[in-house]
Amino acid sequence: MPLNDYISKRDFTRTPEPPGEIHESGLRRFVVQRHQASHLHYDFRLEIEGVLKSWAVPKGPPEEPKVRRLAIQVEDHPVGYIDFEGTIPEGYGAGTVEIWDRGTFELIAKDEGKLVFQLQGGRLHGAYTLIRTRPPDQWILLKNNDAKRAGDREGR
Ligand code: MN
Repeated sequence: MPLNDYISKRDFTRTPEPPGEIHESGLRRFVVQRHQASHLHYDFRLEIEGVLKSWAVPKGPPEEPKVRRLAIQVEDHPVGYIDFEGTIPEGYGAGTVEIWDRGTFELIAKDEGKLVFQLQGGRLHGAYTLIRTRPPDQWILLKNNDAKRAGDREGR
């Protein structure tokens, strides 16, 4: 089950994080959570197939085209995590979580190791690409330039 890793890493008698339940909302939402853990990072999550596909982005998602940001894929999170803010106690992911941006997205292309999507958020908007550069978990997140976006939307 896709959320096994999420569940096995956490003690739900201690953490305020939501339980590991699959939820097909039929929506395409995203969230970016600023996570001040042992190392500050931004968790970028896309609602796909009943879970939040998740990447930890140390420097945060790019707001300008052509900026490449390392994104480490982490365990799928439950859709309920999309609203989560708070303090995670000692243990896995200890630290504070704040929502940095949220909104909806349109999935433009999805292949093994590559996702292209159009974000409509408060801070982030436009077409973005996630490309896996080193399996199993190392990806790059970048904001597409306008020419690239026009090409993607024509289905090339
Ligand atoms: Mn995190």
